[in-house]
Amino acid sequence: MDSKLCIYCGLREATTKDHVPPKSFFAKPRPSNLITVPSCDECNANYGKDDERIRNIITSIDTTEVHPMVKGKIDQKRNRSFGRPKGRSNFDHLISSIKMINRYSANGDYLGSAPAFNLDQIIVDKFLERMVRALLFKEKKIEYTKLDVKWKMSPTEKDLSVMTNEIKNFLFSRSVKEIGNGTFAYIGYFIEGKSNSLWLMNFYEGIEFMVLAESIITHGNHS
Ligand SMILES: [Zn+2]
Repeated sequence: MDSKLCIYCGLREATTKDHVPPKSFFAKPRPSNLITVPSCDECNANYGKDDERIRNIITSIDTTEVHPMVKGKIDQKRNRSFGRPKGRSNFDHLISSIKMINRYSANGDYLGSAPAFNLDQIIVDKFLERMVRALLFKEKKIEYTKLDVKWKMSPTEKDLSVMTNEIKNFLFSRSVKEIGNGTFAYIGYFIEGKSNSLWLMNFYEGIEFMVLAESIITHGNHS
Protein backbone atom coordinates (compact mmCIF):
# COMPACT_ATOMS: atom_id res chain seq x y z
CA MET A 1 0.00 0.00 0.00
CA ASP A 2 1.40 3.43 -0.96
CA SER A 3 -0.29 5.34 1.81
CA LYS A 4 -1.12 4.32 5.35
CA LEU A 5 -3.97 6.77 5.60
CA CYS A 6 -7.09 7.09 3.47
CA ILE A 7 -6.41 9.78 0.85
CA TYR A 8 -10.04 10.94 1.00
CA CYS A 9 -10.47 11.69 4.70
CA GLY A 10 -6.90 11.61 6.02
CA LEU A 11 -8.29 10.29 9.28
CA ARG A 12 -8.68 6.54 9.03
CA GLU A 13 -6.28 3.83 8.01
CA ALA A 14 -6.39 2.83 4.32
CA THR A 15 -7.88 -0.65 4.41
CA THR A 16 -9.03 -1.00 0.81
CA LYS A 17 -8.51 0.34 -2.72
CA ASP A 18 -10.95 2.68 -4.39
CA HIS A 19 -11.29 2.55 -8.18
CA VAL A 20 -11.35 5.88 -9.98
CA PRO A 21 -13.42 6.22 -12.10
CA PRO A 22 -15.57 3.51 -10.45
CA LYS A 23 -15.37 0.01 -11.94
CA SER A 24 -19.00 0.23 -13.04
CA PHE A 25 -18.00 2.84 -15.64
CA PHE A 26 -16.22 0.07 -17.58
CA ALA A 27 -17.74 -2.94 -19.32
CA LYS A 28 -15.99 -6.30 -18.98
CA PRO A 29 -13.31 -7.18 -19.79
CA ARG A 30 -12.13 -4.12 -17.91
CA PRO A 31 -8.92 -2.37 -18.91
CA SER A 32 -5.87 -3.49 -16.94
CA ASN A 33 -4.76 0.04 -16.07
CA LEU A 34 -7.66 1.16 -13.86
CA ILE A 35 -6.60 3.73 -11.28
CA THR A 36 -6.75 2.60 -7.67
CA VAL A 37 -6.03 4.67 -4.57
CA PRO A 38 -5.74 3.80 -0.88
CA SER A 39 -9.03 4.36 0.92
CA CYS A 40 -10.74 3.46 4.17
CA ASP A 41 -13.81 1.24 4.08
CA GLU A 42 -16.08 4.09 5.17
CA CYS A 43 -15.11 6.48 2.36
CA ASN A 44 -15.13 3.63 -0.17
CA ALA A 45 -18.66 2.60 0.81
CA ASN A 46 -19.88 6.19 1.03
CA TYR A 47 -18.71 7.03 -2.50
CA GLY A 48 -19.86 3.67 -3.83
CA LYS A 49 -23.50 4.51 -3.08
CA ASP A 50 -23.57 7.09 -5.89
CA ASP A 51 -21.50 5.17 -8.46
CA GLU A 52 -24.46 3.79 -10.40
CA ARG A 53 -26.41 7.03 -10.34
CA ILE A 54 -23.55 9.14 -11.60
CA ARG A 55 -22.70 6.58 -14.29
CA ASN A 56 -26.32 6.51 -15.44
CA ILE A 57 -26.46 10.29 -15.70
CA ILE A 58 -23.17 10.50 -17.60
CA THR A 59 -24.11 7.72 -20.05
CA SER A 60 -27.59 9.08 -20.81
CA ILE A 61 -26.43 12.05 -22.84
CA ASP A 62 -26.57 12.03 -26.64
CA THR A 63 -22.82 12.63 -26.89
CA THR A 64 -21.81 9.76 -24.57
CA GLU A 65 -24.33 7.03 -25.37
CA VAL A 66 -22.73 6.44 -28.78
CA HIS A 67 -19.33 5.59 -27.26
CA PRO A 68 -18.31 1.93 -27.87
CA MET A 69 -18.02 1.32 -24.11
CA VAL A 70 -21.63 2.51 -23.64
CA LYS A 71 -23.48 1.30 -26.74
CA GLY A 72 -24.57 -2.32 -26.27
CA LYS A 73 -22.53 -2.59 -23.05
CA ILE A 74 -22.92 -0.07 -20.22
CA ASP A 75 -26.31 1.03 -21.59
CA GLN A 76 -27.73 -2.45 -20.93
CA LYS A 77 -26.67 -2.26 -17.30
CA ARG A 78 -28.01 1.24 -17.12
CA ASN A 79 -31.37 0.22 -18.56
CA ARG A 80 -31.58 -2.77 -16.22
CA SER A 81 -30.89 -0.58 -13.24
CA PHE A 82 -33.63 1.81 -14.35
CA GLY A 83 -36.03 -1.14 -14.54
CA ARG A 84 -35.46 -2.32 -10.98
CA PRO A 85 -37.84 -1.03 -8.28
CA LYS A 86 -34.94 0.78 -6.62
CA GLY A 87 -33.86 2.07 -10.02
CA ARG A 88 -37.16 3.86 -10.51
CA SER A 89 -36.03 6.60 -8.17
CA ASN A 90 -32.82 6.94 -10.16
CA PHE A 91 -34.80 7.13 -13.40
CA ASP A 92 -37.26 9.68 -12.00
CA HIS A 93 -34.31 11.62 -10.69
CA LEU A 94 -32.71 11.57 -14.12
CA ILE A 95 -35.89 12.72 -15.85
CA SER A 96 -36.38 15.53 -13.36
CA SER A 97 -32.85 16.70 -13.98
CA ILE A 98 -33.44 17.28 -17.69
CA LYS A 99 -34.00 20.85 -18.76
CA MET A 100 -34.25 22.41 -22.18
CA ILE A 101 -31.43 24.69 -23.20
CA ASN A 102 -31.00 26.94 -26.21
CA ARG A 103 -28.20 25.95 -28.50
CA TYR A 104 -26.15 28.33 -30.59
CA SER A 105 -23.53 27.80 -33.26
CA ALA A 106 -20.01 29.18 -32.85
CA ASN A 107 -21.02 32.38 -34.67
CA GLY A 108 -24.13 32.84 -32.57
CA ASP A 109 -26.89 31.42 -34.79
CA TYR A 110 -29.80 29.95 -32.85
CA LEU A 111 -29.97 26.19 -33.40
CA GLY A 112 -33.14 25.47 -31.46
CA SER A 113 -33.58 23.96 -28.03
CA ALA A 114 -32.29 20.59 -26.91
CA PRO A 115 -32.44 18.61 -23.69
CA ALA A 116 -29.52 18.96 -21.34
CA PHE A 117 -28.92 17.61 -17.91
CA ASN A 118 -29.12 19.88 -14.98
CA LEU A 119 -26.65 17.74 -13.13
CA ASP A 120 -27.31 17.29 -9.47
CA GLN A 121 -24.88 19.72 -7.94
CA ILE A 122 -24.16 17.85 -4.71
CA ILE A 123 -23.67 14.47 -6.36
CA VAL A 124 -21.35 15.94 -9.00
CA ASP A 125 -19.44 18.02 -6.41
CA LYS A 126 -18.78 14.88 -4.42
CA PHE A 127 -17.84 12.84 -7.49
CA LEU A 128 -15.41 15.40 -8.88
CA GLU A 129 -13.75 16.01 -5.51
CA ARG A 130 -13.15 12.26 -5.29
CA MET A 131 -11.74 12.26 -8.84
CA VAL A 132 -9.39 15.15 -8.07
CA ARG A 133 -8.15 13.66 -4.80
CA ALA A 134 -7.45 10.36 -6.53
CA LEU A 135 -5.64 12.01 -9.45
CA LEU A 136 -3.57 14.21 -7.10
CA PHE A 137 -2.45 11.04 -5.37
CA LYS A 138 -1.80 9.16 -8.59
CA GLU A 139 0.12 11.96 -10.31
CA LYS A 140 1.93 13.62 -7.40
CA LYS A 141 1.49 11.32 -4.41
CA ILE A 142 -0.42 14.10 -2.68
CA GLU A 143 -2.29 12.69 0.29
CA TYR A 144 -5.29 14.19 2.03
CA THR A 145 -5.25 17.98 2.11
CA LYS A 146 -8.01 20.53 2.58
CA LEU A 147 -9.32 21.45 -0.85
CA ASP A 148 -11.74 23.89 -2.38
CA VAL A 149 -13.01 22.26 -5.58
CA LYS A 150 -14.81 24.24 -8.28
CA TRP A 151 -16.01 22.77 -11.55
CA LYS A 152 -17.67 23.64 -14.80
CA MET A 153 -19.23 21.34 -17.36
CA SER A 154 -18.15 21.51 -21.00
CA PRO A 155 -15.67 24.38 -20.86
CA THR A 156 -16.20 26.76 -23.76
CA GLU A 157 -13.65 28.64 -25.83
CA LYS A 158 -14.38 31.67 -23.65
CA ASP A 159 -13.41 29.72 -20.50
CA LEU A 160 -10.15 28.75 -22.14
CA SER A 161 -9.48 32.24 -23.49
CA VAL A 162 -9.19 33.73 -19.99
CA MET A 163 -6.41 31.32 -19.06
CA THR A 164 -2.80 32.43 -19.17
CA ASN A 165 -0.78 31.42 -22.21
CA GLU A 166 1.37 29.25 -19.97
CA ILE A 167 -1.62 27.13 -18.94
CA LYS A 168 -3.04 27.04 -22.46
CA ASN A 169 0.28 25.98 -23.95
CA PHE A 170 0.63 23.30 -21.33
CA LEU A 171 -2.87 21.92 -21.82
CA PHE A 172 -2.57 21.80 -25.59
CA SER A 173 0.99 20.50 -25.75
CA ARG A 174 0.60 17.57 -23.40
CA SER A 175 -0.79 14.23 -24.35
CA VAL A 176 -3.96 13.28 -22.63
CA LYS A 177 -3.90 10.24 -20.34
CA GLU A 178 -6.54 7.75 -21.29
CA ILE A 179 -8.11 4.68 -19.71
CA GLY A 180 -10.28 2.19 -21.58
CA ASN A 181 -10.27 3.66 -25.11
CA GLY A 182 -11.60 7.04 -24.14
CA THR A 183 -13.89 5.87 -21.35
CA PHE A 184 -11.94 8.28 -19.17
CA ALA A 185 -9.32 10.80 -20.26
CA TYR A 186 -7.66 13.52 -18.24
CA ILE A 187 -4.96 16.10 -18.13
CA GLY A 188 -3.76 17.97 -15.06
CA TYR A 189 -1.89 21.25 -14.72
CA PHE A 190 -0.13 22.10 -11.47
CA ILE A 191 0.14 25.78 -10.78
CA GLU A 192 3.81 26.54 -10.04
CA GLY A 193 4.67 27.52 -6.52
CA LYS A 194 1.19 26.80 -5.27
CA SER A 195 -0.47 23.54 -4.49
CA ASN A 196 -3.34 24.33 -6.82
CA SER A 197 -4.23 22.30 -9.85
CA LEU A 198 -6.45 22.51 -12.89
CA TRP A 199 -7.91 19.41 -14.51
CA LEU A 200 -9.77 18.56 -17.67
CA MET A 201 -11.67 15.30 -17.32
CA ASN A 202 -13.54 13.66 -20.15
CA PHE A 203 -15.89 10.69 -19.93
CA TYR A 204 -16.85 8.51 -22.91
CA GLU A 205 -15.47 11.18 -25.28
CA GLY A 206 -18.75 12.99 -24.78
CA ILE A 207 -18.83 14.99 -21.56
CA GLU A 208 -16.08 17.14 -20.18
CA PHE A 209 -15.49 18.82 -16.86
CA MET A 210 -12.99 21.50 -16.02
CA VAL A 211 -12.07 21.24 -12.35
CA LEU A 212 -10.02 23.65 -10.27
CA ALA A 213 -8.70 22.35 -6.95
CA GLU A 214 -7.30 24.97 -4.60
CA SER A 215 -5.62 23.79 -1.48
CA ILE A 216 -6.63 25.59 1.67
CA ILE A 217 -3.60 26.28 3.79
CA THR A 218 -4.36 26.03 7.49
CA HIS A 219 -1.99 27.36 10.08
CA GLY A 220 -1.05 25.43 13.17
CA ASN A 221 -0.52 21.77 13.66
CA HIS A 222 -2.86 19.30 12.09
CA SER A 223 -3.12 16.27 14.29
ZN1 LIG B 1 -11.50 7.70 4.44
